[in-house]
Amino acid sequence: MEKDMATGKEIAGTGVGGGIAIGRAHLLAPHELEIQQVAIERKDVLREVARLNNAFSLVRAELDELRDRLGGQEPSEARAFLDLHRAILDDRLLADVPRELVRERLINAEWALTIQLEVVCRQFETIDDPYFRERAQDVRQVVDRVLHRLAGAGGGPVALPRTAAEGERLVLITTDLAPTDMLHLKERVKVDLAGLVTELGGPTSHAAILARGLGLPALLGAAGARGAVAEGDLVVLDADAGHLVVNPDPSQLAEYRRRLREQGEARIALKKLKGKIARTADGIAVDLYANIDLPDDARDALEAGADGIGLFRSEFLFMNRDELPSEDEQFEAYAKVARAMKGKPVTIRTLDIGADKVLNEFARDSLGMGRGKPTPESNPALGLRAIRYCLAYPELFLTQLRAILRASSVGSVRILVPMLAHVHEVEQTLAFVARAREQLTERKQKFDGRIMVGGMIEVPAAAIALPAFAERLKFLSLGTNDLIQYTLAIDRADATVAHLYDRLHPAVLELIERTLKFGAKAKLPTAVCGEMAGEIELTELFLGMGLTQFSMNPARIAQVKQRVLGISRKSAAALAARVLRETDPLKIREMLDRAQRRAAVA
Ligand code: PEP
Ligand code: MG
Repeated sequence: MEKDMATGKEIAGTGVGGGIAIGRAHLLAPHELEIQQVAIERKDVLREVARLNNAFSLVRAELDELRDRLGGQEPSEARAFLDLHRAILDDRLLADVPRELVRERLINAEWALTIQLEVVCRQFETIDDPYFRERAQDVRQVVDRVLHRLAGAGGGPVALPRTAAEGERLVLITTDLAPTDMLHLKERVKVDLAGLVTELGGPTSHAAILARGLGLPALLGAAGARGAVAEGDLVVLDADAGHLVVNPDPSQLAEYRRRLREQGEARIALKKLKGKIARTADGIAVDLYANIDLPDDARDALEAGADGIGLFRSEFLFMNRDELPSEDEQFEAYAKVARAMKGKPVTIRTLDIGADKVLNEFARDSLGMGRGKPTPESNPALGLRAIRYCLAYPELFLTQLRAILRASSVGSVRILVPMLAHVHEVEQTLAFVARAREQLTERKQKFDGRIMVGGMIEVPAAAIALPAFAERLKFLSLGTNDLIQYTLAIDRADATVAHLYDRLHPAVLELIERTLKFGAKAKLPTAVCGEMAGEIELTELFLGMGLTQFSMNPARIAQVKQRVLGISRKSAAALAARVLRETDPLKIREMLDRAQRRAAVA
């Protein structure tokens, strides 16, 4: 939906993350972040190597010319920066290894370069010294320059996306972003990225979840955004209202600037809650856990004052790379989080690959799946995903389980199994865990013998047939993102049906409530780790349903805590009873709005 206003254009979408971003629009071409991955024939090796050599030479000349052009006035940092990029460009790891990859793996120049980029960046990112760790960003910039040359583009500074002018922030506008693209943007948030707009994508697509993880306001499913905005336009992204304002008039801009200031002040106030225990007004203690995607996110969880990690989406360790992580690499990653959390619970979800989270071609190849594009699944969200995937590749699963078990010797680690629909999947998983334990015992490696295995309740079948699952598991976690998707038959990544993705649908609420009720009765710890857990509009309802374990994006913890502190369990229970009696989602929404207004006044 798009509407022309006298003051400026307004483009509607689904707001994610909340808040306001003001910045210059940067339009990202649909495939600017995507690297062509082409398998080549042996006869084409020389051509690809020559393309690489040529692109490197052009970038060398470009950097030398920039350096020559620096006048005496330029700060010495500019010179040092160019020298550093020149040195990176000449380093054997970047200059020679991609050529070898082209020859050995028979792949095109761009692909070889990006494979090596990830290897080099990972090396940098493991360095303790923050200065050296941040140099991974320079390596990416150098490689961007080379990729630009390979694509035949002219000179000039290349950025992915472009860097904002001094003092400016960027609002990125694109068709769609894959979850891996989103990880790629992470490093730009501290520099100049203020907000994100995509034309596709539903509110709980993995891209949306990662956008929330970046702590950025985002607008998803903003149809027509790329056509309605010109590069460099001043835009205001209002994720609370769910729209983008293009070239706002001065009075609109002043109002948005005021709100942006308020937003900053509110953030500072919320930070003060960090050390406070989350307890309802009538004294019920609540655990607020963090959802994380990569080991380094544990830092955000700690900074937000999380009581532990309720969901570590381990699949992000496996994505965007050509070799699957070894047992040792996985162990290091899981142990890093376990150590960082200093005894607080760390819930590691086993690989949830499939649907919109896919492995690279070479990684799939190493599982014996064969090269080339995977056979398209007619409906990947219903296909070989999560636990189904792991059970289909026993070595992959066992390797991960051994790594998680080993990490349990350095912290309080738990195993969480995604997408359970059949009891035999739980039984097979437990048999794999037992096998992994035997293997470690044979190797005389340490693990926590009492490690708990829990299951995600995110397929309606599991929510309905709960007792059989609960009998075999030590804890449960409601994955409401998928529970909604599978209950309502709505692809969570599809913007065209996003309006039907209704988290307040009575069927969804009933499945959540029966799971929480069952968990309480069976004394089985039960959390909610879907996006709903981080929505303050729902905090009172959840407390009223008896939830005491919420797991969410670290950026949401302070706000949810503030809400918990102001709610009494008794009034929350009354609200939940009213909501659960109602069958009209509109009326449910009204009840929650009223409760929300009451809370805001209090
Ligand atoms: C969920 O489905 O609610 C969930 C937490 O898992 P993911 O979003 O990673 O599918
Ligand atoms: Mg899920």
